[in-house]
Amino acid sequence: MSLLALYERLFAAFGPQGWWPGETPFEVVVGAVLTQNTAWRNVERAIARLKKADALTPAAIAHAPRAMLEDWIRPAGFYRQKAARLQGVARFVLEEGGMEALAEAARRNTDAARRKWLSLHGIGPETADSILLYAFDVPIFVIDAYTKRILARLGLASSEATYEDLQARFHAALPRDAKLFNEYHALFVALGKDFCRARPRCGGCPLLAHCPSAQVAQKAACR
Ligand code: SF4
Repeated sequence: MSLLALYERLFAAFGPQGWWPGETPFEVVVGAVLTQNTAWRNVERAIARLKKADALTPAAIAHAPRAMLEDWIRPAGFYRQKAARLQGVARFVLEEGGMEALAEAARRNTDAARRKWLSLHGIGPETADSILLYAFDVPIFVIDAYTKRILARLGLASSEATYEDLQARFHAALPRDAKLFNEYHALFVALGKDFCRARPRCGGCPLLAHCPSAQVAQKAACR
């Protein structure tokens, strides 16, 4: 199955996912940092607290007393680490002239913009690419643990493949289209949450008929 055919099957099964849930590009950035190692519902609670405190702006986060910021984002877990990361990101946004200037820079020279985001404390490839794609509409494919697991189980990639290897595969196989990349990543998350979990729920999975891992598991169960 090609990567485009996989997208079409997932889209037919799950429909449009409406990502990213965020009212402004800066809210997307904050969400991308807060979602590290936690469930999205916890991020929503932390973002609601930031909004209630009128603190969901680069200036408010950059200048907030650290203990206060930690308290606002506590529901997202790892709140000390994440508060430090958020303040680093908020200061970076201010130094670079704001979100609109960063969006323009990302569209003009994506590689240079990506390197800058990656140089920030606690911002790895998945977070940087989520920001570029979902906050700035730059066509760059986000790889996460669900993507790696699903591709490996479908026999479409080695479980040893690196982030960069997998990203290059998507970039080579698909039209460079931010809308498509936005939807595709969200569909991987939908499949990973509903079916292709650490212990897969293959019954009812829309990829069941095309998945060698499911077939192996079913044969083993019949012995
Ligand atoms: S059939 Fe099972 S292993 Fe294959 S993609 Fe679906 S849930 Fe994952």
